[in-house]
Amino acid sequence: MSKEMLVLSLSCPQCHARLTEGTRVRLAGHAGRTNQQGEVLLSAVFGGGRGDEADLVLETDLTLEKGDAIDFCCPRCEASLMLPVTCKVCGAALASLDIAGGGSVEFCSRRGCKAQALGGAGNIDEMISLVNRMFDTPYD
Ligand SMILES: [Zn+2]
Ligand SMILES: [Zn+2]
Repeated sequence: MSKEMLVLSLSCPQCHARLTEGTRVRLAGHAGRTNQQGEVLLSAVFGGGRGDEADLVLETDLTLEKGDAIDFCCPRCEASLMLPVTCKVCGAALASLDIAGGGSVEFCSRRGCKAQALGGAGNIDEMISLVNRMFDTPYD
């Protein structure tokens, strides 16, 4: 039983550079606690990072502990991807990326937060209908 993976094609809202590489999204990040700057690779799979054990961050140069928030920015144009909106679950800032074909996806910047999943915590139905429109295929 393998559910087909749905990989989101994500781009920078500022310079529109394509940031998805294979099944990953390559971003630049700044960790406030350690004041480190580095590369962060996130899962580009729709719903990736969802669930208690899952981790949206696949690889990073940063020294991160559970609970650390990351300031994400575009690796091409260095524009901040952070929104002036906070996560409903933990209160950290949300980051946002554009989806190729329209729309955008938000995710929590705090590692280990349940909302640190592409699509965030609450609007999964909305996201699925958006994705259905994009691919013109029913998801279930
Ligand atoms: Zn950019
Ligand atoms: Zn959060």
